[in-house]
Amino acid sequence: METTSEKVTVDLKLDETYGAFINGEFVEPSNGYIDAINAANGKLLSKIARCGKEEIDRAVTAANEAFKGWSTTLIEERSALLHKVADVLEANQDRLKMIECLDTGRPIHEFDLDYQLAIYQFRYFASAILTYEGASRPVQNGHLIVKKEALGVCAQIIPWNVPMIMVSFKLAPALAAGNTVVLKPAEDASLSTMEFAKLLQEVLPKGVVNIVPGYGTEAGQALIDHPDVHKLAFTGSVDVGRLVGKTAGERILPVTLELGGKAPHIVFPDVDIDRAVENATLGYTFFNGQSCILGTRLFIHEDIYDEFVEKLIARAKEVKIGDPTDRSTRVSALINEKQGKSVLGYFEIAKEEGAKILYGGNRVTVPGNEYGYFIEPTIIEATSEMRIAQEEIFGPAATVTRWSDIDDVIRMANDVDYGLAAGIMTNDLENALDTANKLQAGSVWINQYFNFQSGAPFGGFKNSGVGREYSKEALDNYTQSKTIVAAYQLPPAGFFK
Ligand code: NAD
Ligand code: MN
Repeated sequence: METTSEKVTVDLKLDETYGAFINGEFVEPSNGYIDAINAANGKLLSKIARCGKEEIDRAVTAANEAFKGWSTTLIEERSALLHKVADVLEANQDRLKMIECLDTGRPIHEFDLDYQLAIYQFRYFASAILTYEGASRPVQNGHLIVKKEALGVCAQIIPWNVPMIMVSFKLAPALAAGNTVVLKPAEDASLSTMEFAKLLQEVLPKGVVNIVPGYGTEAGQALIDHPDVHKLAFTGSVDVGRLVGKTAGERILPVTLELGGKAPHIVFPDVDIDRAVENATLGYTFFNGQSCILGTRLFIHEDIYDEFVEKLIARAKEVKIGDPTDRSTRVSALINEKQGKSVLGYFEIAKEEGAKILYGGNRVTVPGNEYGYFIEPTIIEATSEMRIAQEEIFGPAATVTRWSDIDDVIRMANDVDYGLAAGIMTNDLENALDTANKLQAGSVWINQYFNFQSGAPFGGFKNSGVGREYSKEALDNYTQSKTIVAAYQLPPAGFFK
């Protein structure tokens, strides 16, 4: 373990309470507040509105009223405003990163990536909308126009793991396309989003973005059930995603879902083992293991299996578990006790089904942070069909499985309900691309995990979801095409005889 400590301190100046952000104002909620808790030490950071039907109704009304103006605003102007959003996010990022670090318990150093992605996201869609054209062509005796129209009010629900990434993935394409938004952040991590609302207040017209924090069964449910929303977008668990999808089905609303993942990471025998181990370790421990894109199912070729696993364990021992505000920390507190217990519960399930915990598996105490659930990077030898290798753990843990035959490993890699991401490590690019073509996953990263590139579609195959974000395709998910066929004059008299 590293011994250096580089504690970062920022004066947070948090408000005592955060109301619902509706029509450009912070509104006192009618049902009171939810405690915003520091995930590592359990201290109260602030209180956020516990929104219910009443706030949702006001927010949806405000968004509908703002829609006419926003959807008809010149795209050049919307683009300029989205660049301004990126600017204020960039200028305030140090403070927001620390707020998010404390609220979620994730290591502070990770937020450099989160905020870079979020800022790029606003800039990307500020630019993409300028070249998002419909179609137009002459037809016999007239002209055909296909235009892309905004949908209206988008109901967007996001999880707690990467709040600002989620906020940007949801807001940027929706706003660029001319929609207005009612966004519900997760009850365990709304603070950075509420502080961001203060920045939006200075930049965007009233009612274009409304933010209604609260519980899923109250604020979330009321939002998806509201009759005056025109699109549902959700990121989170498969169970809630299914409910959102059902609601969209009943109401015939367009829907995008970004759900869980259980990504295979396939290691070929020709790799540089040390570098591959490093990449694999990043791939299963980043975000404290709490992300749907992590490479948590490691398939290692039998020729290098023993050496690879030995080094993977040695590397796991070196991962610094510590206070989230220490820049040298790499694994920190999980979001809450429920998540911590769920992760530890999965290790028990693993043992019961005959998997072998090769390293880790325990909660550790970090002085001053006795409240938090800090879990050791955990390596579990398992077969592909065991629950530990099939279900989302959402903690810093990976299974290791031996393979020898390429068809066999592809079958195992695909033999899972999810299909969000996958990784491959090999020096043979032909081999890598051939394997990538056979994997059922929305994103495949060869030789570098989490290789996010602007404009690359992000989303899931199979139970990992419906629709794509992060790319121009997202604009298709936030618009509907209207075909207009204009004839130059009425048909000649008697044409219907
Ligand atoms: P969740 O699906 O319960 O919560 C996600 C969001 O949905 C939150 O904002 C929540 O308030 C809201 N929500 C919950 N019930 C709702 C309802 N009935 N109607 C409308 N909105 C509702 O996820 P969770 O409890 O935070 O995490 C549980 C598991 O989900 C995790 O262990 C993990 O496996 C998975 N997860 C996936 C992602 C992802 O990015 N795909 C993110 C977080 C969690
Ligand atoms: Mn919190």
